[in-house]
Amino acid sequence: MKSTSLMSLLVLCSALILGAQALADADNTIMPKNEAPKKLATPPAKPAATKTVKAKPAKQKPTVVVFMGAPGSGKGTQAAMLSKKMGVPHISTGDLLRAEVAKGTALGKQAGAIMKKGELVPDEMVLTMLQKRASQRDCNKGYLIDGFPRTEAQAKMLDMWLKERTNMVVVNLDVKDNVIMERIAGRAKEAGDKKRADDNPESVKERLAQYHKNTQPLMATYEEQKRLINIDGSEDIDSIHKHIWEEVQKRQSAGAPAKKAG
Ligand code: ADP
Repeated sequence: MKSTSLMSLLVLCSALILGAQALADADNTIMPKNEAPKKLATPPAKPAATKTVKAKPAKQKPTVVVFMGAPGSGKGTQAAMLSKKMGVPHISTGDLLRAEVAKGTALGKQAGAIMKKGELVPDEMVLTMLQKRASQRDCNKGYLIDGFPRTEAQAKMLDMWLKERTNMVVVNLDVKDNVIMERIAGRAKEAGDKKRADDNPESVKERLAQYHKNTQPLMATYEEQKRLINIDGSEDIDSIHKHIWEEVQKRQSAGAPAKKAG
């Protein structure tokens, strides 16, 4: 072998040795002396991608505010104001029924005659109508019901339907009968030709009688369930609204899922 070729071979060998040493240093592995680095049969497994499973925050139940009170106690007015404040729909069973009457549907024809006398429309009829409306998408985050329940059977249906799934709050507007009679007479006078078919003294008396017989007794159960908010409905409209809003907010935070410690 020529001396130049021998020199090149020596340079190549030392380069290989130095290179191996550099790799070992970089790897931070200690290569045993005189032992060739073992080839790995399979490349080292990549660390499994660890999925971070975020704990879902406990879902807050939607709030459903049920407005109760005698005819003319201001349920409709207050429910409309609260609906704006909370940004949830206001469902009035009386309005739903009057819409059916105006459209002249079979249900409207049947209900219209009953309503005119101030009597109560059959439970199933009202419930079906209410459930249909409350199942619409805009009710996902809660809603307000005005005019339901009015009988024990309706209250039971509502309980079965809502009690577990929602944070149900009941607002009772308390107004004396003589004030009611005056209010409705005033409302009818103002409306003139457009007055409601049931805003006449005979129907109002019947509506009040139905209220005392069928609806007022339901309040005891709601009181027991600690859902009842009693409000003096003879105050001015804005004060009543303020009281209702304050009380509903308290119930909403009481019904909210507990915050995690830390
Ligand atoms: P008000 O509370 O002044 O009587 P509504 O508009 O709530 O007025 O109801 C008008 C009428 O509609 C009632 O008198 C009744 O005939 C009928 N109605 C409304 N809601 C119900 C209900 N939940 N069950 C039976 N009838 C109802």
